[in-house]
Amino acid sequence: MIQPGDGYLQYIINPKSGSSSNKLLVAEFKDYLLRAGYEVRTHFTESLHHACELATAGCRDRDCALIAAAGGDGTIREAMHGLAGNAKPLLIIPSGTENLLANELGFGLKTDSLIRAFEGDCIRPLDLGRINGRHFTSIAGFGFDGTVVRIVTENRKGHISHLDYFWPIWQTFWGHKFPRFQITIDGKEEFDGHGMIFVGNISRYAIGLQILHNAQFGDGLLDVCIYRCRGKMHLMRHTAMTIFKRHTKRSDVIYRQCRRVRVRSTSPVVNTEIDGDPGPRLPVQIDVIPHAVNVLVPPGAKPAGMRTRMMRILD
Ligand SMILES: [Mg+2]
Repeated sequence: MIQPGDGYLQYIINPKSGSSSNKLLVAEFKDYLLRAGYEVRTHFTESLHHACELATAGCRDRDCALIAAAGGDGTIREAMHGLAGNAKPLLIIPSGTENLLANELGFGLKTDSLIRAFEGDCIRPLDLGRINGRHFTSIAGFGFDGTVVRIVTENRKGHISHLDYFWPIWQTFWGHKFPRFQITIDGKEEFDGHGMIFVGNISRYAIGLQILHNAQFGDGLLDVCIYRCRGKMHLMRHTAMTIFKRHTKRSDVIYRQCRRVRVRSTSPVVNTEIDGDPGPRLPVQIDVIPHAVNVLVPPGAKPAGMRTRMMRILD
């Protein structure tokens, strides 16, 4: 465990993310650190890129013992981008809407879960994905969810809640035309057809859907799930099968583990997302950077399941 004499803590906070309960978590954990005698240097981010710069500054400063980043998946992704290749650990303070990565690493949304991670000394190496040169931590989506994320982002005013996804999903469900993709996995042409694609490093996506259910965040591999899909009924069947974790057994789903993926499309407009933010234009090349960062995790914790996450949404 880091001791107060080891150096200061770089506390990076995205002031735009988080509901009031998230903000309480960020403040309570800081109080805990101060009471325990740690020097805490707080920085509020002005943009996502600023989170990256602050993380880089912290990891280059010898007097900085630990970097803590409070925000949603976007803030955490940018902090990781700034830390990649450096051994200094990152502590995630989950204060976004979905907190996909924090959930995968076993964090709860209470202060005691953070304190257990901080005191537990359990440091795990985390792989990052790299998409056209930019790092991501959790998942990249192509097609349907890219469109949902684009609509949510365009209408965003400050902190978003789960409810803010409802109409964009509804609108996308009725209006979406499934693009045609060409997918190459580890150099082999695997798919040419209409559908939607997910590439990532975490087993549970939004509301706990286990799209990439074999994914492990430190195994040096990316998981890929390709759903062949052309219409609404087909999408509903895929969704039901994914809820019941039977999707990968279907002949219209391709599931692979790999090191490199190339995604192209002949469709004119394809929306993409990375970790819940709008992603790059196609074509993209995605590769994995094994053990790119170290993260502190609560010892022995497991990702919360779909039921827990639904309860959190309703809470
Ligand atoms: Mg992996």
